[in-house]
Amino acid sequence: MRNWVFVKLETDVAGLYGWGECSLEWKTRSVAGALEDFAPMIVGEDPTRIEHLYQKMYRQSFWRTGVIGLSAISGIEQACWDILGKSLGQPVYKLLGGAVREKVRMYTHLGGGDMRAVYESQYTADPQVFVDRAQEVIARGYNAVKVLITPPTESLNSIAAYKYAERMMEALRLAVGDAVDIMVDCHGRHSLANAIEFCRVLAPYRPYFVEEPVPPENVDVMVEVRNATTVPIATGERLVTRYQFRDVVEKQACHVIQPDLCHCGGLWEAKKIAAMAETYTMGVAPHNPLGPVANAVALHFDLSTPNFLIQEDMLTDVPWRWEVVQHSLVSQDGYWLPNDAPGLGIEVNEEAAARHPFKQEVIHPMTVRAHDGAVLDW
Ligand SMILES: [Mg+2]
Repeated sequence: MRNWVFVKLETDVAGLYGWGECSLEWKTRSVAGALEDFAPMIVGEDPTRIEHLYQKMYRQSFWRTGVIGLSAISGIEQACWDILGKSLGQPVYKLLGGAVREKVRMYTHLGGGDMRAVYESQYTADPQVFVDRAQEVIARGYNAVKVLITPPTESLNSIAAYKYAERMMEALRLAVGDAVDIMVDCHGRHSLANAIEFCRVLAPYRPYFVEEPVPPENVDVMVEVRNATTVPIATGERLVTRYQFRDVVEKQACHVIQPDLCHCGGLWEAKKIAAMAETYTMGVAPHNPLGPVANAVALHFDLSTPNFLIQEDMLTDVPWRWEVVQHSLVSQDGYWLPNDAPGLGIEVNEEAAARHPFKQEVIHPMTVRAHDGAVLDW
């Protein structure tokens, strides 16, 4: 589904370099191209002038670059923090203000099951697949999970789709009890009317939050959902920079923002976004289904950000995940613990990475079409 894109930023000090990540699903070549475009702006510059380099890449581009360019900027920016931390012998979180907590709560995404089977069974699919996955994750120490249980929909729905979501949620809640938080990710699949109805049927089972109930393009529609439900709303994984988050925050479209540190502009931009959200009592739950460099970056942000809530953690994408990246991160019972390795605390094994070259991603692994063949949100 995704290729990892890592950035290695070298300096003129022997052995001093930094790593960052800017993986972006189905846009791998575009991001790699954007990195090439930014290189002339930063080669020869002082990598510890992080804000200056961000300004240079963002403002001197003239064209605001959107998620592809901002992902490239994010990867370069993270690599600068890694260099700065290594040069000072300090972990990055200490340079971001220091730890405001002792550990970082994580959750993992259980996915959406087999949507083709869901359609073919006319929404009578068995919830056991989600229950089994949740119990595997809980056995590893996690006390929070996320699921995709609201099917892609047209602008209005048949009752069967709502009953499907309700049945999945009920089975999960019964299986995991009240001690485990359940988040419902909607992938921006729904219209306003559908989103409100899904929130209504899910509400009795107390989801921790409902994520992207409507597409991200129109914040006013998200505000309508938020005002029509008692369920906490989360959004923001597809937004970049403080400018795109500004609307969401000022209009109070959600309760939890979800910047992706590999897309939004990097660690420092994410801190600014989080601070804006803090003034409206919003929590921060960074989006992260990406590679292991992204994991380390998120840890430093989470440790140092007061309104951080919970961190998405990728567990099971590829078995060679931690061969490619060596690290000193410690994960224990569903939490990451701080560690004082300098910089981001990771090292990419370039030989191991070279064994896994670019492969064309599988585009849209799930069939997402309406009954009449029209394309729906994935
Ligand atoms: Mg999501």
